[in-house]
Amino acid sequence: MTTIKIWKHFPREDLYECYQCARCTGSCPAMQVAPAIGPRGAILKCLNLGHDEVVEDEKIWLCCTCNVCEDRCPQKIPISDLLVALRNSAARRGNIPSRLGVAIELLAKTGRSMIVHQLDEMRAHHGLAPLPPAPVEEVRKILKKTGLEEVVEI
Ligand code: SF4
Ligand code: SF4
Repeated sequence: MTTIKIWKHFPREDLYECYQCARCTGSCPAMQVAPAIGPRGAILKCLNLGHDEVVEDEKIWLCCTCNVCEDRCPQKIPISDLLVALRNSAARRGNIPSRLGVAIELLAKTGRSMIVHQLDEMRAHHGLAPLPPAPVEEVRKILKKTGLEEVVEI
């Protein structure tokens, strides 16, 4: 099993700077649309359970990396970096939500993460030219270099 050393990518000591005021969570858009893990919760769980437990929780994938939590944090803790580091660790262990796996597979095959039917017609309706072909080979090189090709069966 390949793992990523999360504390190389996020300063662990920053977790101890959090005084659990919940200002971050109160502004988190992910918390408003779904029972996400939340920025304050992510820190608390890492401290109490260890990150190995947290990366098993699919709710870490609901963060949209908007950075609002970090901007509002009085301690300036880089919380969205923590969520990204947790997801990287989860991905290396193969813990990727199936809907994301499908998007990555599509990306590798078509150079785009979703198929929009009648896209050219829609663009033409707005007076826009068709999109240029997606750079599939370039995308595949990126997937290979980032290790995603190994994580998701392509
Ligand atoms: S805003 Fe900062 S200090 Fe307050 S709970 Fe969130 S991470 Fe902790
Ligand atoms: S970066 Fe993620 S955790 Fe922070 S406010 Fe945005 S969605 Fe919430």
